[in-house]
Amino acid sequence: MTKKYNFTVIGGGLVGCLASIVLSKKNYSICLIEKKSFKTIIPDNFSPLSLTINTIDFLKKNRLWDDGIFKSSEINKLTIKLFNSFNVVQFTSDDLNGEKLGSIIDKSSFLSFLRDKCLKDQNIDIVDEIDLNLETNTSPFQISLIQTKSEIMSENLIVTDGANSQLAKKLNMKSLALSYKQTSFMLTVNFKSVSGGAFQVFTKKGIFAILPYNDNSVSIVASVYDDFIDDFNFESENANIQLLESELCPFIKGIHNPILLYKYPLNTTRLVTWTRQNIIFLGNSSQLLHPFGAQGFNFAVDCVKEIDNHSTELFIDNELSSDLIETINMKRNTVLNRIDFTSSALMKNNILANLSSSFFSKAMNSSATLRKSILKKLVGVN
Ligand SMILES: Cc1cc2nc3c(=O)[nH]c(=O)nc-3n(C[C@H](O)[C@H](O)[C@H](O)COP(=O)(O)OP(=O)(O)OC[C@H]3O[C@@H](n4cnc5c(N)ncnc54)[C@H](O)[C@@H]3O)c2cc1C
Repeated sequence: MTKKYNFTVIGGGLVGCLASIVLSKKNYSICLIEKKSFKTIIPDNFSPLSLTINTIDFLKKNRLWDDGIFKSSEINKLTIKLFNSFNVVQFTSDDLNGEKLGSIIDKSSFLSFLRDKCLKDQNIDIVDEIDLNLETNTSPFQISLIQTKSEIMSENLIVTDGANSQLAKKLNMKSLALSYKQTSFMLTVNFKSVSGGAFQVFTKKGIFAILPYNDNSVSIVASVYDDFIDDFNFESENANIQLLESELCPFIKGIHNPILLYKYPLNTTRLVTWTRQNIIFLGNSSQLLHPFGAQGFNFAVDCVKEIDNHSTELFIDNELSSDLIETINMKRNTVLNRIDFTSSALMKNNILANLSSSFFSKAMNSSATLRKSILKKLVGVN
């Protein structure tokens, strides 16, 4: 017999799991489909995910926060360096009257935690290690599960199948191709000395983040322009650590024992619209945000939060509620504009980037009100 669901969520990453849990709390029935194995997450080294205060509050409200499991550490200081040491801006929790600026957690532990919640949730059926076929493009959706030769029916679809979404292609969603001409390398390194807090450093070779991990190590997200990838040589045993250290000067010294956790080419597509009739795209399937500012998952949480806050029917006459679309559209445009502005104004070491970085740092360092307002946006405080 074909089982029927209110929602089918495609993709069991962070966003698919979170959306499923939130919808289940509203008493919807959900089928969560993951292409790979859902049960086993191979534990790797600490892979940092920076969370804003908004996200942390939402997770806590939904009882999805466990400091111990996520190995979380608080951020109380954030330093941004734009090309040279004249352009340094430092934010501390004092700028927010003592409130922390956010937390860093381990991505894999967090994903395991969310998946475990999904597995135990009676409203959520998990189907994993499966390829699917959408037999109908409109609601009710008929979905064939290829390997088991079975099918399910669903009133609504939430697509969270990650960057360069295959489902979006199958559904002919309009999208814009986007290439930052950079690849992000996620590394853990040991050090001799490091200044406290988190750092975001813009140089002509790339955009780098230093994130606290433990007493001996930090995580480094190095989003390197394609032209300089060979210079850093992160994928070889002879990674150019001296070059990395000079880019991060003066914040960290004596880098050694680098471990490359993963690399992520920053070529992707961005959907023009993230919803169509009874279909919602969330997370990376809708847009892959540049790791600068660590906004990708935090923005997805903001969208799920709006869906959660929505008090009436989510879909009316086979269309997602218009006020919900409007609210998320406004937030999405703000985030995308901020990312696009940053990438055009600050991500290249040209005259414009030098002028904007000097203007940005001077303005930040001279106006407490502006500092506070920018910081609130950066760390997601309303
Ligand atoms: C280097 C880097 C650093 C980042 N740091 C931060 C940060 O500090 N803070 C932050 O907020 N964000 C950060 N992000 C962004 C964040 O990682 C993403 O926003 C988030 O992981 C996206 O989750 P997702 O569930 O949308 O996609 P994914 O994690 O890609 O999950 C997609 C899932 O769908 C499954 N799937 C794929 N195709 C199918 C299919 N056909 N059927 C079923 N399942 C399918 C996949 O197997 C996968 O499990 C960072 C990103 C990068 C690249």
